[in-house]
Amino acid sequence: MDSPRRSSVIIIGAGVSGLSAAKVLIENGVEDVVVLEASDRVGGRIRKQDFGGVTVELGAGWIVGVGGKEPNPAWELAEKSNLRTCFSDYSNARFNIYDRSGNLIPSGLAADSYKKAVDSAMEKLRKLEANVCYGGDVSIVTEPPPTQKTPIELAIDFTLHDFEMAEVEPIATYSDFGDQEFLVADERGYEHLLYKMAEDFLFTSEGKILDTRLKLNKVVRELKHSRDGVTVMTEDGCVYEANYVILSVSIGVLQSHLISFSPPLPRWKTEAIEKLDVMVYTKIFLKFPRKFWPCGPGKEFFIYAHERRGYYTFWQHMENAYPGSNILVVTLTNGESKRVEAQSDEETVKEAMGVLKDMFGPNIPEATDILVPRWWNNRFQRGSYSNYPIISNHQVVHDIKAPVGCIFFTGEHTSKKYSGYVHGAYLTGIDTVNDLLEEMGRQDERSSENKTSLSEPLLAMTDSLNLIQNDAVTSLKCDVPTQLYLGGKLPKLCYDY
Ligand SMILES: Cc1cc2nc3c(=O)[nH]c(=O)nc-3n(C[C@H](O)[C@H](O)[C@H](O)COP(=O)(O)OP(=O)(O)OC[C@H]3O[C@@H](n4cnc5c(N)ncnc54)[C@H](O)[C@@H]3O)c2cc1C
Repeated sequence: MDSPRRSSVIIIGAGVSGLSAAKVLIENGVEDVVVLEASDRVGGRIRKQDFGGVTVELGAGWIVGVGGKEPNPAWELAEKSNLRTCFSDYSNARFNIYDRSGNLIPSGLAADSYKKAVDSAMEKLRKLEANVCYGGDVSIVTEPPPTQKTPIELAIDFTLHDFEMAEVEPIATYSDFGDQEFLVADERGYEHLLYKMAEDFLFTSEGKILDTRLKLNKVVRELKHSRDGVTVMTEDGCVYEANYVILSVSIGVLQSHLISFSPPLPRWKTEAIEKLDVMVYTKIFLKFPRKFWPCGPGKEFFIYAHERRGYYTFWQHMENAYPGSNILVVTLTNGESKRVEAQSDEETVKEAMGVLKDMFGPNIPEATDILVPRWWNNRFQRGSYSNYPIISNHQVVHDIKAPVGCIFFTGEHTSKKYSGYVHGAYLTGIDTVNDLLEEMGRQDERSSENKTSLSEPLLAMTDSLNLIQNDAVTSLKCDVPTQLYLGGKLPKLCYDY
């Protein structure tokens, strides 16, 4: 069992935000850091797996926001790691929409439906904004009477709101970093950039992190906190102590109560945590003995229009990333993701094959393999990423991020501008550490002030002392808090719960 040696900071979670936090702490001289990670690997929602002879990304797959005025930090890390990527433009999916009989929807009709969907989303947004301006409640904005949407409209609505991030223009990621997207297509996986980053501040060898400050398979279950620091208990009975904790687990994990807090988190914090939606986003990979889908420019993505919204709607082939791999990827979200997670992979292959036969005819070959990630049922994730309500109150973002005593929060869900993205998570790790370093500085000042006020009255009471600084003694006043301090009763410091 690990002995509870006290560290300066414990970081819980070794995803991109936890690792960027560790990097900034160590680079700033705070070296006695411990990183506790529940799973047997680093990376969290950046995760690769071998499938069908290539490496596929179960979690983050794209570097989003490239080519703009500011460099995207995820892109910089990718360049530094020589990560292989390929340009990817899923906006062309709207020109490849199939109906249930396998007919390609004429591009004019698809473009009209797309415009209608964007206009209706903008109209709804304007109403929400107007209501908020007049002090109304976002949740009670009256919805227009539901009109029966056609399968094409449903498919486009899904693509705009579930496949792409439902964000309000201007989208900070695009306006700050550029509007290009690159798909990671590297056998070493997206996670390679994390190993490369770790080389700068952790002990690594041959691409492996060997630093003893990183502890894998440590599932944190309880945090006991007071103004003196934090005690962290893990599922395997280990106890760790630190002055501060940085908690980088996902919003889904915070909502699931996997970790208990003693004393409990204050109401403003738990309410903010509950307010955030968790998006479930599932990429299902299917391997085939041969290609039967169109390839070539503008054909990487295609859409299936079904009367059930989100039913195997959004498809991608992997020929651009891995030519000859014969792999298709279909993306499900939320309710459909949870439904598919709960059923067997055989049932899922059957459903997906039914959809592909609708689009490409009955003579296509059967899939030889399937991979279904289960982000919702993974107790260390409980979903894919946070989804702030379209018009969100700035207070919610503030409260999600705000520290509680010695516990600091980080992770993609704490990002004001880039929640849901790898670069968002990376930048929050840095932001949180900057806040923590400021707090540590203030704490040092408080300690040295306390030391001064402790020594002054002691000197005042020692009249036989031969002092060099006579002035200091004559000007001494023993004020009330100092007397209490000497009597062992420390005046209660402000501990904001
Ligand atoms: C399917 C999917 C697709 C995505 N696609 C993209 C994309 O294309 N582009 C993009 O930019 N972003 C994408 N994202 C989002 C991106 O992956 C995340 O925003 C980012 O990786 C989150 O990093 P994080 O450090 O905040 O959290 P995480 O990566 O979740 O790290 C938190 C860590 O905490 C650990 N943990 C949890 N509970 C405990 C516990 N009790 N004790 C100890 N450790 C614990 C977890 O195991 C995990 O390693 C996608 C995510 C998913 C799931």
